[in-house]
Amino acid sequence: MDDLSHAFGDIPVITDRTTVRRRSRDYFWYSPILKDELEGRFGDIVLVPRDEADVVAVLRTCHARGVPVTVRGAGTGNYGQAVPLRGGVILEMKGLDRIEWMRPGRVRTGPGITIGALEAACREGVGGQLRMFPSTMRLATIGGYIAGGSSGIGSVSWGLLRDPGNLVAARVVTMEAEPQVIELRGRDVQQVNHAYGTNGVITALELPLAPAVDWVDLLVAVPGFMDAVHLGRTLAEQPGIQKRLVSLVASPAPKDYFEALAAGIDRHDHALLVMIAREDIETVEGLVGAVAGARISYRSDRDQRTGVDPIFEYAWNHTTLRALKYDRSVTYLQVLFAGPDRWKGVEESFSVFGDEVPMHLEYINFGDQIGCFGLQLVRYTTEARLREIMDWFDTRGFPVFDPHAYTLEGGGMKQVDPVQLAFKHRADPKGLLNPGKMIGWDDPDYDGVRVPVSYMYAAASG
Ligand SMILES: Cc1cc2nc3c(=O)[nH]c(=O)nc-3n(C[C@H](O)[C@H](O)[C@H](O)COP(=O)(O)OP(=O)(O)OC[C@H]3O[C@@H](n4cnc5c(N)ncnc54)[C@H](O)[C@@H]3O)c2cc1C
Repeated sequence: MDDLSHAFGDIPVITDRTTVRRRSRDYFWYSPILKDELEGRFGDIVLVPRDEADVVAVLRTCHARGVPVTVRGAGTGNYGQAVPLRGGVILEMKGLDRIEWMRPGRVRTGPGITIGALEAACREGVGGQLRMFPSTMRLATIGGYIAGGSSGIGSVSWGLLRDPGNLVAARVVTMEAEPQVIELRGRDVQQVNHAYGTNGVITALELPLAPAVDWVDLLVAVPGFMDAVHLGRTLAEQPGIQKRLVSLVASPAPKDYFEALAAGIDRHDHALLVMIAREDIETVEGLVGAVAGARISYRSDRDQRTGVDPIFEYAWNHTTLRALKYDRSVTYLQVLFAGPDRWKGVEESFSVFGDEVPMHLEYINFGDQIGCFGLQLVRYTTEARLREIMDWFDTRGFPVFDPHAYTLEGGGMKQVDPVQLAFKHRADPKGLLNPGKMIGWDDPDYDGVRVPVSYMYAAASG
């Protein structure tokens, strides 16, 4: 690879084998299936562009030589999104971390800034906060989140990253003989939103900001499972309560995996993990007090406990991470609970699977209703059993976004996104960007639909 490492002028390059191998990985090992499929896939060199001009230069050279390029933020994706399947260059974007400007309600930034740093700067600069962020915000880059994430803390109020208004604009560099720099705005941003860097390299993002709120973390312990589900629903639904996070983690996971945070709860307690505006605590206390046995067991503005992290670092995919620390056989699901039967589906699956699939729900604002993503833990035995469990949900109208697939289609809506595919034809005609992640590109006849898109929309708005 000597030849390649000298092809990029003074752009910083990493060739050390161990480092290159490390930068070829993400959190795909969450899935025993992805672990088997992706272990041992490495890039050849890492390039660390300092600015957009470096990105253009890298893409021009790689296009000319037919070298694949896999873009990387912080490598916290958990579906192998950033794993280079066909070698080549890993393009690490952390150097493009400059905030271009901000004003109340809006920020424009380079993609390489960590989300935590961006949020802190917006709070300080214009009294704003991000609408949503992943639980990895202390490490993850904003570019990696837009290209590889979907939702997170804030989704209980603001919905999904794909919902109109949650991403304003993206500047993208194409991979052509002479790379173009294109500004995508309005609906056009969906061409690269959650496209895994398969059809362009994002070099700037414009995002909406909400007014900053003083949040308090709460753990609410609830003995009854459906009591906890409905209390979570109430907190999520009430427009008069400002919330950033409502998650439910069923017993015994909180006591078994949450260490200091769960010090005050019993093993049979279910936990609601909540971020609430300080002014709304009194209202929440009243609602909690009305539920049999429920109590606020932890409050960040009151309880000084050593070893407790921000509550969002127990939620979303951090729940799985914490479980994995104790039990390497645990994996997880991603199930959409939307539509009129969503709460019945939660109740039924809880009773059917019991401790084989410990319940974990993230409450989401789907626009016309509050529903949930189930990120249930799974006590993994075999792939066949895992597929059987996923089929149980799919066939009952609760679609699974398979977290054990590394392609866009396999993990998402089970069908090709024609808008993103069309943009790839324009922006990456040789198919060199993160190759192998978009089935629609490699296999134009792909028709692996398990859940029709029309159904998904019907379910989400039913
Ligand atoms: C413990 C844990 C918790 C998580 N919680 C959440 C959560 O709450 N919500 C959520 O949505 N996700 C979550 N994730 C997944 C992941 O952390 C986020 O999506 C994160 O924002 C990814 O950022 P990153 O910088 O690490 O991106 P990477 O993992 O480096 O990259 C992600 C994808 O984006 C592409 N990419 C990166 N930068 C660019 C760019 N500039 N231009 C084009 N493509 C690019 C990469 O090629 C890759 O396909 C979690 C993961 C873990 C391990």
